Amino acid sequence: MGSTRYTIKKISPLQAIVFTGTISLLIIIAGTVGFFLTQHTVLEKVKKKQACYLDLVDFRGKLIEFGLSRNLEQSPHVAHNSEVLFLVYEKLLLQMQNAGLQPFASIQTARESWPAQLTGENLERFKLKLDQSIEKAKIESNEAAVKLVVINEFFLFFILAVLLTLSITAGWLLHNNYRQTLIPLAQLVGQLKLLNRNIPESIHDTAEEMKKELTETEHSSDITQITKSIMSFCGDIEAKNKKLDEIYIRDEKTNLYNYRHFKEHLIIDVERAKRLSDTVSLAMIDIDHFKRYNDTNGHVAGDKALKILANIISSQCRAYDVPARFGGDEFALLFPKTGTGTARDIAERLRKIISDEPFLHEAGKSVGEFTVSIGIATFPGDALDWTTLISNADRALYKAKAEGRNNVVVFQSMEIPSTPG
Ligand code: GH3
Ligand code: MG
Repeated sequence: MGSTRYTIKKISPLQAIVFTGTISLLIIIAGTVGFFLTQHTVLEKVKKKQACYLDLVDFRGKLIEFGLSRNLEQSPHVAHNSEVLFLVYEKLLLQMQNAGLQPFASIQTARESWPAQLTGENLERFKLKLDQSIEKAKIESNEAAVKLVVINEFFLFFILAVLLTLSITAGWLLHNNYRQTLIPLAQLVGQLKLLNRNIPESIHDTAEEMKKELTETEHSSDITQITKSIMSFCGDIEAKNKKLDEIYIRDEKTNLYNYRHFKEHLIIDVERAKRLSDTVSLAMIDIDHFKRYNDTNGHVAGDKALKILANIISSQCRAYDVPARFGGDEFALLFPKTGTGTARDIAERLRKIISDEPFLHEAGKSVGEFTVSIGIATFPGDALDWTTLISNADRALYKAKAEGRNNVVVFQSMEIPSTPG
C-alpha cells in the first residue's frame, strides 16, 4: 500500500498515462498479430476439411455410379474404371490425412484387394464405412468453423478488455491527480483564511464542500470554481494592498503625501545629493492666521480651505517635486536637484496664486484674506543633513511670519541665523 503511494508521487500522472497507453498499445499489437496468425491457420483447416468433405461425397457418388455400371459394361472397362477409382481413393486418403480427418483407417484397402472391395457385399460395406467418414468430416469441418467464430469473438473481447483496463487506469490516475491537486488547494484556502478573516463566502463554502467530499465521498468536485474564487480573492487583496499603499503614504484630509513619506524622500534625496554633489531645496509653508480663519468660518470651512490649498500646491509642483502636509496648517515642498533661486521662484509664484485665490464660502461669500508664509533652505548651502534642513527652512518661515506674513524668506538671506524664540 505504502509503496504504491510512493510510486504515484514519483511518476507524474501524464507519464503514467503515457506509460500505460504504450503498454496497452504493445499488447494490442501483439494480440492482433497473434489473432491474425491463429485465424489464418484455423481458416486453412476449415477450408481443407470442407474440401475433403465435398470430395468424399463426390467419391461416394462415383462408387454408386461404378456399382451400377459394372453389371452392364464389359470387363476391360470395369477394370479401367476400378483403376481410376483407386487413384481417386488414394488421393482422397492423402487429402484426409492432410486435413487431419479421423478415422480413415477403417476404409483403408490395399491395392491388391481393391477389385474385391468393389464387388457385392464388400462394396455395400465399403459405402457404409464411407458414409460414416463423410459424416465425421462434416462434423469436424463444422466444429472448425465454430472454432473460427469463437476466435473472432475472443479477439473482440480481448480488444475491449484492454481498452477498458486502459480507461480504468487513466481514470484512476486522473482521480489520484485530482486528489493531489485538491488537498493542497484546500490547505491554501485554509492559509488564506488565516491571512484574511474576511475570506469571501464563495471560497469558504467551496472549501468546506471540498473537504467534505475528500473525506467522506471522494467524489470529484469542480476545482475550477474554487480556482476562480481564489483568483478573484487575490484580485481583491491586490486592490486592497494598492489602497493600503496609498493610505500609507497619503494625508487623508488633503491627499498630499504625509510626513512619513516626505521624511523618507527627504532622507533619500539629501543622501543622493551628497553622493552626486547636487542640491536639494525645501520650502516650509504655513497658513497665516489659520486659527482666526477657523474661528471665523468654522472648522469645516477650514478643512475645505486646506484641501483647496493642497490642490494649488500640487498644481504648481513639477513631476519630481514632493508636496506633503507636514502637520496642522503647515506644508512642506521638497525640490530635488534644485537650487535656492528656482525654489524661491516657485515659492513666490505659489504664494501669489494663493493670495489671489478667493477661497469662497459655500454660499459664494468670500471668507476674507487667505495667505501663506514660506521659508526656504537648501542643501548643502544652508544645511548638511536633513534635520537641519527642516529646522533652517522653519527658521526662514518664522522670519517670514515676523516680517508681516504673506511672504517668502530664503534662509541664505538671513543675516545671523539664530534659534527662534
Ligand atoms: P500664524 O499665522 O502665526 O501661523 O497663525 P495661526 O493662527 O495659523 O497659528 P498656528 O499656526 O499656531 O495655528 C494653527 C491652526 O491651524 C490651529 C488649528 O485650529 C488649525 N488647524 C490645524 N490643523 C487643522 C485641521 O486639520 N483642520 C482645521 N480646520 N484647522 C486646523
Ligand atoms: Mg499658521
